[in-house]
Amino acid sequence: MKTFLEDKNLPEYRQQQMRTAWFDPSIKNWEQVTTLPKEARQILSKSEPWSSLKLSSLQQSKTALKALFELSDGKKIESVLMINPKGDWTACLSSEVGCAMACDFCATGTMGFIRDLSSDEVSDQLRYWRQYLHENEEISGRVSNIVMMGMGEPLNNYEPVRDAIIDFIEYMEIGKTKITLSTVGVKRGMEQILTDPLWPDVRVAISLHYPDQKKRVEHMPVANQRSLEELKDWCLRYLKQYGNRKHHITFEYLMLEGKNDTQKDVRDLAKFLKGIDRYKINLIPWNEVDNLNYNRASRKRTEGFQEALQKRGIRSTIRKSLGREIDGGCGQLAVKEGEVAKNTEETKDDGLISIGFK
Ligand code: SAH
Repeated sequence: MKTFLEDKNLPEYRQQQMRTAWFDPSIKNWEQVTTLPKEARQILSKSEPWSSLKLSSLQQSKTALKALFELSDGKKIESVLMINPKGDWTACLSSEVGCAMACDFCATGTMGFIRDLSSDEVSDQLRYWRQYLHENEEISGRVSNIVMMGMGEPLNNYEPVRDAIIDFIEYMEIGKTKITLSTVGVKRGMEQILTDPLWPDVRVAISLHYPDQKKRVEHMPVANQRSLEELKDWCLRYLKQYGNRKHHITFEYLMLEGKNDTQKDVRDLAKFLKGIDRYKINLIPWNEVDNLNYNRASRKRTEGFQEALQKRGIRSTIRKSLGREIDGGCGQLAVKEGEVAKNTEETKDDGLISIGFK
């Protein structure tokens, strides 16, 4: 769709009409876009796919759904829809097929990098979920929040991700503060955020996890590009530029038993945070991934860590993890061989959410 609009050089009002229709969950194909002349609809039906994604499988739990999509070149990505405390839905979108960052606690990291997604491929994930909710009338709520926390490193695919987000804000009535982009801390993309006049100014979350540079390098190779000191310097510059009552930085901190949940880690984290105002810390239970050398820290240990932070005046929240049962939790997204067959066998309709295979 995006390439089509760029190639055709259509007048602005036509582009608006096409985009508005494309993002409208009640419209299913070009034929139904009655704001366009009949001839245009016919040409579009032949030349332009309504979506770049084909659904391969859909898994569900009571609180989350995970879709596996096939792209036009046969590659696969995953996307998750989770219920949120307001009874609406948060869509977790992928930005790349696989990921080059190779963090050693993350399932996607084990896949390696395959390719970037186009902005249509990013948008189509959200369009799919909006259409899904629209069609399944028995499910209440709307997509109210978006997190770029699926497969991939969004800032390594800067422009397509940014352009998709700009469209979400314009055509889906989702506010800037309801969208969060999570990054492991890549240098180039982070600098782009500060210099790009088109940056949509959505919320940013940083996957910190290891507040000690040596350990961070060991477990998160990206730390070779950008040290903790440089990361902190970026945070200060970001907050100077964008910080206000609504804008803070969220630090994501995975609870990895024995690896980053000791008293030394509390001290290191406190040291890192010193001087940064306007931040939030999310303590995240690590979701199990087969063959990775980690253990999920217990609730008790996590609360102990939280209390130790609190004693130093650092407030944090413990994030509830959704979607674990369907391997749709953070860091569990990796496309497994034979998954489609497995899912089809396990399909069941418990009356809560019905699943359609296409
Ligand atoms: N590449 C981006 C966005 C994708 S990951 C980033 O790193 O921020 C979204 C979040 O899930 C990150 O904070 C990531 O570190 C975390 N994560 C990775 N593996 C996880 C696991 N097994 N359990 C829970 N969270 C995990």
